[in-house]
Amino acid sequence: MTPTELKALVRTIPDFPKQGIQFRDITTLIGHGPGFSASVDWLAEQVEGSEAVAGMEARGFIFGAAVAARLGLPFLPIRKPGKLPCEVIGVDYELEYGMDRLELDPQSVSDGPSVAIVDDLLATGGTARAATKLLREAGATVTTAAFVIDLPDLGGSSRLLAENVAVRALMD
Ligand code: IMP
Repeated sequence: MTPTELKALVRTIPDFPKQGIQFRDITTLIGHGPGFSASVDWLAEQVEGSEAVAGMEARGFIFGAAVAARLGLPFLPIRKPGKLPCEVIGVDYELEYGMDRLELDPQSVSDGPSVAIVDDLLATGGTARAATKLLREAGATVTTAAFVIDLPDLGGSSRLLAENVAVRALMD
């Protein structure tokens, strides 16, 4: 499938979760078998050569885990607070309105692998920067982040580049 055909599978929901936000909904993309498979193939190509794939809860799990399985690599879940049963490291980060937190089991990256980040969508880059910080704190090398969708007007790509993370996105 072409990138244009894949883009047509993403649904836009106006005023979700708040008034004025155009929510890019990937459930219609993953609900289309060939579309989901082609998206995972594309993401897998971008992160090939990495030693592990990390994804952020929750939509990053859908694509990240599929990419890791396709490449035969470990998948590292980066979770919302209080979900991991083990000792964790965490990072608080700013959202457009308010704060959020992500947590990681540091033992999952104990041997210092090169880890690629995969998520559904890049907006301001706050979530991916927080994930980068966590993975690096645990000893991983992070140089690539791959997304299904980039919202280029929100500047996430240049914020990640400033942290030496190259961004790949299947569609804008
Ligand atoms: P950022 O931290 O501002 O880059 O926002 C990206 C995070 O918010 C990702 O984990 C996305 O899953 C989520 N997100 C923000 N906007 C949207 C959207 O329009 N559709 C789907 N997810 C979104």
